[in-house]
Amino acid sequence: KKLGIALVGLGSYSTYQLAPALLDTEHCYLAGIVTGTSEKEQIWADNYAIPKANIYNYQNFDTIAKNNTIDIVYVVLPNSMHADFCIRAARAGKHVICEKPMAITVPECDAIINACKKANVKLGMGYRLHSEPYTQEVKRFVKEKTFGAVNYITADAAYRSSSNPDQWRLNKKLSGGGALMNMGVYAIQSIIYGTGENPNSVSAQEFSTRPEYFKETDETITAQFEFPSGAVGNIMTSHNARANRLYASCDHGWFELDPASTYIPLAGRTSNGKLEFPQESQQKLQMDDFAEHILYGKPNRAPGEMGRRDMVIVEAIYESIAQGGKKIDFDFKPEYGFGG
Ligand code: NAD
Repeated sequence: KKLGIALVGLGSYSTYQLAPALLDTEHCYLAGIVTGTSEKEQIWADNYAIPKANIYNYQNFDTIAKNNTIDIVYVVLPNSMHADFCIRAARAGKHVICEKPMAITVPECDAIINACKKANVKLGMGYRLHSEPYTQEVKRFVKEKTFGAVNYITADAAYRSSSNPDQWRLNKKLSGGGALMNMGVYAIQSIIYGTGENPNSVSAQEFSTRPEYFKETDETITAQFEFPSGAVGNIMTSHNARANRLYASCDHGWFELDPASTYIPLAGRTSNGKLEFPQESQQKLQMDDFAEHILYGKPNRAPGEMGRRDMVIVEAIYESIAQGGKKIDFDFKPEYGFGG
């Protein structure tokens, strides 16, 4: 059986990554769309053979509950809209995939998790890297201590934004924040699966060089972490620099991914030599993994609790900055440190 997925929000990620990947997936397919732009309806219906009955807008979305051909709703909207649509999808009895960042506050993450529990539906984050072979190799290094214990880890996730001052990513109401909400989540993920631990504490700094462009949202943030094992971590995220890397220094060597979180192709090296894995669509792997989780009980590689943990860290980073770099302590349970 192939599960039917409905994409909510047909922006660039849905158009150029998710929908093409759904032509290759083995355990799910693009069954429906939810769009606020009526001109897109016919184009998508033609391109992906979507029946009229499986096309929804934001107003009639809740009637998707009656549609047995849709099993999973995948929310790919601006960040501040994730909670509303994930909760509505759960109430409609659909399994949910939520794009990153999970929401714009921790209470919103809780509301999504609770709605999915109450409706007895599965919830997965759009954290595609957990299904990707270079990232899985990093997790293996950590689990098997291939290079011994990790002592220091650093991760950068950044690009330079300059083209469109009106985009929703620069609008705090829609994005919840700037580089940290957008790319920073990847850097946070990197240092956690790169150590296999949730952090004990963070202190953070913000830098601004173009306040006229970044009127409401953070431009560049750095943050330092302590981990229970004694490992120390550092992240840099920015909308004003190009960087995409994970590097870990261990007792007996090191490993590095550069790039570490772009779509394709990732690349990696270690103190033992180059890493090489076949390149496949990360989105295809991710959506098939989630479908197999629903169909066959395969582990959920990126559960909602993982998205919530990352939002706790995001909020702590903003709090640390607001308090002049003060160290903020965490009290995490260990189980979502590593991912399935
Ligand atoms: P986008 O700007 O290309 O698309 C956003 C979509 O939301 C558009 O279809 C737009 O019409 C719709 N929309 C509805 N209400 C809107 C409003 N009030 N303002 C603006 N747009 C509105 O964005 P995107 O790059 O597709 O990102 C969508 C989500 O996917 C974000 O949460 C983003 O973080 C996430 N994303 C994840 C990845 C990944 O690798 N996992 C990559 C890109 C984006």
